[in-house]
Amino acid sequence: MTSPPARFREVTRWPVWRTPHQLIGAIVVVEVLASALVVAGLWALPLPTGPTLFTMATLCVGGVLHTELVSGIERIRRYAMDTHHVNLTSVWTFAAALLLPPALAALVVAIVYGHLFVRVQRPVPPPERRPTYRALYNASTIVLAVHAAAGVVAATEPGGIYAGLPYPLTIVLALLAFTVVNTCLVLGAIAIVNPEARFMQILFGGDDLNLELATLCLGALVASALTAIGPVAALLVLPPILALHRTILVRQLREKADTDAKTGLLNHAAWHLRGSHALQVAERESRQAALLILDLDHFKEINDTHGHLYGDQVLASIARVLREELRDHDLVGRFGGEEFVVLLPRLSGHDGRDEVVHIAERLRRRVGGGSMATGPDGPTIPAARTEGTPTIGPRAVTVSIGGAVFPRDGGGITALLEVADSALYAAKKAGRDTVRIGPPPFPTAERA
Ligand code: GH3
Ligand code: MG
Ligand code: MG
Repeated sequence: MTSPPARFREVTRWPVWRTPHQLIGAIVVVEVLASALVVAGLWALPLPTGPTLFTMATLCVGGVLHTELVSGIERIRRYAMDTHHVNLTSVWTFAAALLLPPALAALVVAIVYGHLFVRVQRPVPPPERRPTYRALYNASTIVLAVHAAAGVVAATEPGGIYAGLPYPLTIVLALLAFTVVNTCLVLGAIAIVNPEARFMQILFGGDDLNLELATLCLGALVASALTAIGPVAALLVLPPILALHRTILVRQLREKADTDAKTGLLNHAAWHLRGSHALQVAERESRQAALLILDLDHFKEINDTHGHLYGDQVLASIARVLREELRDHDLVGRFGGEEFVVLLPRLSGHDGRDEVVHIAERLRRRVGGGSMATGPDGPTIPAARTEGTPTIGPRAVTVSIGGAVFPRDGGGITALLEVADSALYAAKKAGRDTVRIGPPPFPTAERA
């Protein structure tokens, strides 16, 4: 049974203590630095003028209204996404960085993030609710990003090192400073938690970076509208923001609908659709492609011996291995049960079949060889399911693989699946832990 979530008073049970020590260190450094900058800034701040306080109040009202308008959508987004979540409130915090002294801009961050926490984060019940330390870390990274952007603006003011820089250029530099600081701190935390994360994929694989930049551009427009026209003009940004939130939600729900919950791979329907499209592209470009079906050997025994939850963890480990071993553009899906499918849309060699045999053998060795069972860097099969019972220890899981090459074994995904399925059947008949590609006779690689 899982224990109930920790209450605020139960300091020793806070989720942050379960994170790696380096992450705790990074959180402390970022939060202390952000707090120190705010305190020092407030200390040195001359008494704010009426217009400065009015600007600050307008941006806080804008941020609060923004959260109120989209709180329903944001709660659903937080259910749908467990990864990094781009937060569009940078519209207000970036505008604050452009218009206010850094310490007051940091107060805008505190108010907007505090309200966001109470209205969006707290109402999501555990286990979907994200731990509070993450919200605090995010707010602290934004405080540091705001200081970086405000630093750029200060440098362009009379007496600064870039005094006289045209205002549009100032905005671009401030936007870059904000993005670089925020992105580096977020990616740094991800790197500590998951050293194997693919940063290029995180940065450029989705729309997150575009979304962040679009949000900051809106922030620059809000700042300009607020100074040139007034608060009502600045608040006109709210309807487009609402539309943006709706569009993002639809995209994220579509991604979730395409994903197999147990393994994080594509589910069968999504894999089939994307695979068919990839084959059409391969045909147009006269390229060879390949399809593999992987079936775990004697998986029922693993379930019968260790239980289905343990079996589920094995499936998730195998999915991780497949994603690590294959390239970003290869399509990896869960076919169903303990079967996986892979579409390799771009074979590089002249003889597609030889190349596919080698790729499939590499997957077979990685799953079934020493690395899957015991390797220091490869995932080990998780320990036995019940604490206190004798652990059975790591044990090897093996896989049989059948494959087909496009276009020689079939011109469409269904034909390739049929050939790969009979090759898989032949691999099982040959004793399992074996690769067979195409219709017989089967080429095989030297076993390592
Ligand atoms: P073979 O080597 O012939 O493939 O033997 P096998 O035991 O792997 O194949 P079989 O088709 O007899 O059994 C497949 C097993 O996979 C039975 C089922 O309980 C298990 N299974 C299917 N889906 C899941 C799942 O989502 N989680 C877990 N833990 N087990 C699953
Ligand atoms: Mg099976
Ligand atoms: Mg099986």
